[in-house]
Amino acid sequence: MTHSERQHTKISPSGATRWINCPGSVILSATAPPQPESPFANEGSRAHELAEYCLEHRVSDPHSVKSGFDDIPDLQKDAVRTYVDYTLPKLLTSDYCGIEDQVQLTLGDTVIKGIVDFWYVTGDRLEIVDYKHGQGVVVEPRGNYQLVLYAHGVLSMLSKSVQSAIKDIVVTIVQPRAPHADGPIRSWQVDPKEFIEILATAISSVKRVESGDETLNPGAWCRFCPALPVCPAVAEQAKQKAREEFADCKLLSIEEVAALLKWAEDVLIPWASSMRGYLFDEIDRGQDVPGWKIVEKRAVRKWVSEDAVLDWARKMRLRQADIFERRLINPAQMEKLVGRKKIPADLIDKHSSGRTLVRETDPRSDASSSAAGEEFLEENE
Ligand code: SF4
Repeated sequence: MTHSERQHTKISPSGATRWINCPGSVILSATAPPQPESPFANEGSRAHELAEYCLEHRVSDPHSVKSGFDDIPDLQKDAVRTYVDYTLPKLLTSDYCGIEDQVQLTLGDTVIKGIVDFWYVTGDRLEIVDYKHGQGVVVEPRGNYQLVLYAHGVLSMLSKSVQSAIKDIVVTIVQPRAPHADGPIRSWQVDPKEFIEILATAISSVKRVESGDETLNPGAWCRFCPALPVCPAVAEQAKQKAREEFADCKLLSIEEVAALLKWAEDVLIPWASSMRGYLFDEIDRGQDVPGWKIVEKRAVRKWVSEDAVLDWARKMRLRQADIFERRLINPAQMEKLVGRKKIPADLIDKHSSGRTLVRETDPRSDASSSAAGEEFLEENE
């Protein structure tokens, strides 16, 4: 069974942040229209499959896997390599380990299932490693419901003697494609008190879900909710925000705009995008949707057959120098060819393609005009 074909239960560790914060999402999602798999989810599944293959076959470089993964671009294989570099040495020296293991966890009277990317026990340490291929949403290990539930699941499948020897539980996120001040690999040594608190929270949330609690609570966790395009609570929150923010005819303050942008990025933009996907599918299935239709995107011209074009160019007596272009490969391609450290640094010029607004937690340095001014003043003081 491939990674993308595995069935998730309605309550799964991977959706824990959502159903813990919004218990009603489980019932609403069950009645929501089916969502098409996004290209990003498909990319993530393929990357996980490659990572699993590398660990199962003890392959240290995903680029060297000859067949079956040609559809994965090189840059994405680089990301998988970060995960393999971290996990493979641990796998080779562990006492016990598991790759893409299905774990069962008991939360009160309910048993839920999840797939753990990689776990191992060495001596008195249990580590859970989760690979995140996405680059849009940065994931933190500290207090991470999903990873703590995985740790609980792995612990419960170990023998009593191994369990009792474990003193340290560490959960790790490997997320190479999303910039973070602490780098692509971030770990949290689980605090036993927080571990118990998280389990207690999860147990009480599962109870709420099982008792049919339909409370809806919009927040950043809506982004991956299957019910997002049809969720009445998100629509109500959007209306409420509009009523609050635009009630008085006055300019919004910087603080109000900053808070609104954060809300828009967390909820409004994902909501609009999920509604777009939902309506696209409905129209495509033949449903009449007032005010919307599907059209072809701008056409991209390409040759039907390069051989036919070359025949035609020969007959036209066109010169090869005019119809072929020869270009030097870029620095990334050269690095792949000869290795990163072999290219003299002075051959590469790095310049930004522009500036962008990001959250203050982003690890990149401040590039605002005022920051540049301060640097100039400091240098000239
Ligand atoms: S979209 Fe958000 S508020 Fe609505 S059900 Fe899903 S998680 Fe809850």
